[in-house]
Amino acid sequence: MTTQFDVTTLARKNVRELTPYQSARRLGGNGTVWLNANEYPIAPNFTFNEKNLNRYPECQPTKVIERYAQYAGVKPENVLVSRGADEAIELLIRAFCEPGKDAILYCPPTYGMYSVSAETFGIEQRVIPALENWSPNVEAITSQLDNVKLIYLCSPNNPTGNIVDASLIREVLEQTKDKAIVAIDEAYIEFCPQASLVSWLKEHPNLVILRTLSKAFALAGLRCGFAIANPPIIELLLKVIAPYPLSTPVADIAAQALTEKGIETMKQHVYETVQNRTHLVDELKKSPCVQQVYRSETNYVLVKFTDASMIFKTLWDQGIILRDQQRQYGLSGCLRLSIGTADECDNVINAIKNIATANA
Ligand SMILES: *Cc1c(COP(=O)(O)O)cnc(C)c1O
Repeated sequence: MTTQFDVTTLARKNVRELTPYQSARRLGGNGTVWLNANEYPIAPNFTFNEKNLNRYPECQPTKVIERYAQYAGVKPENVLVSRGADEAIELLIRAFCEPGKDAILYCPPTYGMYSVSAETFGIEQRVIPALENWSPNVEAITSQLDNVKLIYLCSPNNPTGNIVDASLIREVLEQTKDKAIVAIDEAYIEFCPQASLVSWLKEHPNLVILRTLSKAFALAGLRCGFAIANPPIIELLLKVIAPYPLSTPVADIAAQALTEKGIETMKQHVYETVQNRTHLVDELKKSPCVQQVYRSETNYVLVKFTDASMIFKTLWDQGIILRDQQRQYGLSGCLRLSIGTADECDNVINAIKNIATANA
């Protein structure tokens, strides 16, 4: 009998030890009301115009770059398009961080992909917990910058929903001026456009802004994101990106989403989402099951429940799928609820009312 060879012993150590990102899709569930991935609840309509699929696509499709630059208020040479913002998060690590030498820094509770991407490449993680009001602890950050090449700050932050105070970001940018890249993740900026830091690019050569079509643009399935930065950074990222990061159909649809009409549609999504959020928040605040509803500038809301596990499971069993945040730093008792359609919000409200009645 031959002994079975275990091929996993060939894998890199950090890959053997890696826990992949627990995406909403990987977590599964048998839902009818999906409120766990901050998606727009209704599928948009598009036509396929580009049919020459015998040809390789452009690495950086011109129409997409030009239209996004115009939308964001920058020049085309400030824009890189990627396979979702997630790829841009990873490209920054690939371009700037040396395994065994450099570190990334982030402030939990926050988006999980900074950590997963760093782990994949064997890059040290400097973890500086946020303060109680979810602000970054700038003093702790600036005192622990040894070997830090890349700082991720998410604003508005996922999953807490708050905008990071611009003066704190400016302090981090100034303290890291010649030392590190500061990436501001603006995945949800369409819900609070006045908070964007794009206009700071001129003064800050170490600033990168991450964007996506997955949230307000309602195109999570398209996989299209952006990095906005000064040309020297964009050129470095272009060195490490795949030769054909976007397929022709993806570029085709992204270009349509960024027309004047597409941007109007996105703004309509934002308007409706904010209305639904206001109603959901008002109702949640009345519930005896709810301890706290955190202020949100996004298409989701973080809620602290008196018994979060029970709420999560009861709604899950009814096909209402929320995101459990209880294992995140500082978020015991918290669930994240994406803002769905008005009907979906009512489903949540009614399900929680029924629980309260049953427990009364
Ligand atoms: C959803 C999300 C992303 C990922 O966006 P994709 O373009 O879908 O990869 C990045 N950052 C944050 C904070 C997000 O919530």
